Amino acid sequence: MKTYQVSSDGYYGIYGGAYVPENLYHTVETLRQKYLPIIESEAFKTEYHALLRDYVGRPSPLYHARRMSEKYGCKLYLKREDLNHTGAHKINNALGQILLALKMGKTRIIAETGAGQHGVATATVCALMGMPCRVYMGATDVERQHVNVERMKMLGAEVFPVESGSKTLKDATNEAIRDWCLHPQDTFYIIGSTVGPHPYPDLVARLQSVISSEIKIQIREKEGRDYPDYLMACVGGGSNAAGSIYHYMDDERVKIYLGEAGGHGVESGETAATIHCGSLGILHGSKTLVMQNEDGQITEPYSLSAGLDYPGVGPLHAHLAHEHRATVMAVNDDEALKAAFELTRLEGIIPALESAHALGMLPRMKFKKEDVVVLTVSGRGDKDLNTYLTHPPYTTTNSPDNITHHTLHQK
Ligand SMILES: *Cc1c(COP(=O)(O)O)cnc(C)c1O
Repeated sequence: MKTYQVSSDGYYGIYGGAYVPENLYHTVETLRQKYLPIIESEAFKTEYHALLRDYVGRPSPLYHARRMSEKYGCKLYLKREDLNHTGAHKINNALGQILLALKMGKTRIIAETGAGQHGVATATVCALMGMPCRVYMGATDVERQHVNVERMKMLGAEVFPVESGSKTLKDATNEAIRDWCLHPQDTFYIIGSTVGPHPYPDLVARLQSVISSEIKIQIREKEGRDYPDYLMACVGGGSNAAGSIYHYMDDERVKIYLGEAGGHGVESGETAATIHCGSLGILHGSKTLVMQNEDGQITEPYSLSAGLDYPGVGPLHAHLAHEHRATVMAVNDDEALKAAFELTRLEGIIPALESAHALGMLPRMKFKKEDVVVLTVSGRGDKDLNTYLTHPPYTTTNSPDNITHHTLHQK
């Protein structure tokens, strides 16, 4: 049977691999040899799942959104990652990686962060485990994401502002890799998404796969079968999407729809839609689709949503798009904003702006009434209130029926 899982040498089709500097080779190779035996051990699983339950608050609910279902003519369920401790799916991964780091005898944690969400998740699990933590963050992002910086500091992490390049996520990642090169013995690098050199994309996908394990059980309880007709999620680096689809990737009955950040539009030059606009390159240790110019220099991505503003994408997702296993839509800022307000007014759930890029695909879908659709709400919108309040997509009444959805460019 055809499989979309990673190959034994760390590739998804032509994408993936581990392109690391020589002085990291040994560290990455050790991680590659150890990650599966450790995360598949009974001791790890017991500890990890106890913390997911009691600390994170899992399982996250699978909620039948009645009013949204009526509007879109299907049976829509929302996978509520927004209800996790710290407000998003990222904690699933950070928690798993710190347990792995402890089992590997590491004594220091580093991480990169853009919007600060992964930084907060990492600082949280470091506080939980009493581990020293340094978070690299672009100086521009430090200014933009003030509240998350204060949260990380309160949790005891050292936030290191990166002044190089465009002072954003890719520069923070470069700096974290530099630190890792200097301290490969004692330091564990907790990567926040399904990106980076093998085995990280697979490690992160496996840790996030708890999302689809739960969907299997929950959809069986609600629908009497263990698969939906559609799975929908947003994609930055790809971790919440990977977690949502993990146990369904090889099940062709399940259609996969991924929403990446169109920004001002894929033709505008101001976009973070890497699968639409990127080309094959190497970024942060992985061969994948990358936003770059003809000289191979990384171009600055743009999205109103800080969490989707990454110039690469996970090699798994590049492969799923390449093979047409997943349909990828570029959802623009304005569509995501409308979708966020719509969910808020129809269901009383304020989603993260990232998650709104999954919701923003709904107006373009053609469902049958009996279709069972599971859409992952990757995080909650508290952190985005300022953006929402300064970018209201329509005049506020209590009825969303006056929202007109325009269809935008779809590749
Ligand atoms: C970071 C983040 C994302 C994007 O990351 P993925 O790895 O693509 O999941 C999406 N939603 C929220 C709420 C986030 O914090």
